[in-house]
Amino acid sequence: MLSTMENDLARILVSEEDIRTRIRELGVEITDTYRRLGAEEIAVICVTNGSIMFAADLLRQIDLYAQLDCIRVCSYQDDIKPVSVPEIVDNIRLDISGQHVLLIDDILDTGRTLERIVQVLKGFRPHSLRTCVLLDKEGRREVGHEPNFAGFTIPNEFVVGYGLDFAERYRNLGCIGILKPELQNPPEWH
Ligand code: 5GP
Ligand code: MG
Ligand code: MG
Repeated sequence: MLSTMENDLARILVSEEDIRTRIRELGVEITDTYRRLGAEEIAVICVTNGSIMFAADLLRQIDLYAQLDCIRVCSYQDDIKPVSVPEIVDNIRLDISGQHVLLIDDILDTGRTLERIVQVLKGFRPHSLRTCVLLDKEGRREVGHEPNFAGFTIPNEFVVGYGLDFAERYRNLGCIGILKPELQNPPEWH
């Protein structure tokens, strides 16, 4: 347990152990889904930086050949205010045409980020495209996308940990939690 960062939390929403358990289940679910389709190999696209921890752990629970690439998007002007059209700032290099693609992101909030990436990846003509998110924020969707695989449904709170940051901090926290209110809005930000 990394107590320095955990002391900054008002509460833990998902524990390390719950994350581990759920990722094992997701691995089985994803493996079975593609096996039923007759697919032996998938191309995994991971949305950096937020989904790095999740993708690293999930991939090792998927019993299929898996190619890997990353895509970087800028959805937030600062850490709180979303931009309406997320911008792709670093696209994939992997050739995914004709491949079974699994897109992995950390959290689905309004759905705009995933919607945009799905649109871009479809342009490369994959054989299939499925999405997997660790967290799904309840009642927040503005655009149509529902994930094919989701770890946990969480309330509409700003969360950090396990890849998710606040001002680039807390990505290396093992659990997922809500920051103390006084830390969500440090005075030097205004
Ligand atoms: P959407 O485009 O679905 O509204 O937002 C998705 C992106 O916004 C996520 O990939 C993530 O980077 C960021 N995001 C949304 N909610 C949270 C949150 O509660 N905490 C953090 N750290 N990032 C979030
Ligand atoms: Mg993200
Ligand atoms: Mg962020």
